[in-house]
Amino acid sequence: MDTIAERFRQVSSQIRHAVGIAGRPRDCVQLLAVSKTKSASDIADLYRLGQRHFAENYLQEALIKQRQLAAFNITWHFIGPIQSNKTKPIATCFDWVHSVDRLKIAQRLSEQRPEYLPPLNVCLQVNISEEASKSGASLQELPALVDAVSALPNLRLRGVMAIPSAETQYAKQRLPYRLLYQAVQQLMRPELDSFSFGMSGDLKAAIMEGATMVRIGTALFGERR
Ligand SMILES: *Cc1c(COP(=O)(O)O)cnc(C)c1O
Repeated sequence: MDTIAERFRQVSSQIRHAVGIAGRPRDCVQLLAVSKTKSASDIADLYRLGQRHFAENYLQEALIKQRQLAAFNITWHFIGPIQSNKTKPIATCFDWVHSVDRLKIAQRLSEQRPEYLPPLNVCLQVNISEEASKSGASLQELPALVDAVSALPNLRLRGVMAIPSAETQYAKQRLPYRLLYQAVQQLMRPELDSFSFGMSGDLKAAIMEGATMVRIGTALFGERR
């Protein structure tokens, strides 16, 4: 049987297993359910099984589902590309943003974060495989970007996010995460404690290399149409 409950159990046990092999503390990896293209009722099903963190890529779609699910106690993460004219609703309607890749976007999110909300948690997206088609700051840009974003009043810089080029070989999956993890350690900023690494296809490699949040869509909800 391949129900959502079954898949949720499977993914949760894969995470626990990888954390055990890595010799890391229990509960050090949070599961983010990537619900792009999935309906509010799919989200509600997973919520009833205990899942609280959901991640969305497309703003308009996310806002509709947030309205439908307003009665649920969900922590919302934005993980998609950010256009500078869309920063206000992102700053208002999300708890975390993983895809900040340039200072201008960070400045706008900070300016537009409402006073009545706590600082917005952000991760800097790093284009670790240096693919021309992907967004993200380069490793070389990371130290200056960390300094500048840390100084913004209404953001709380938490760490980094990466989407490496897709690899099927386990060792090749691990390498980019290791490089980025080490680059962050070298910054000597203990407040950068969040590593948004890993999707359905490379969850174990990401956890072995320090992921604290894995972004899982397909393995939880099934294939997207
Ligand atoms: C879609 C998406 C995911 C989830 O991918 P799956 O392979 O379905 O688990 C994770 N992160 C980002 C940024 C995504 O766009």
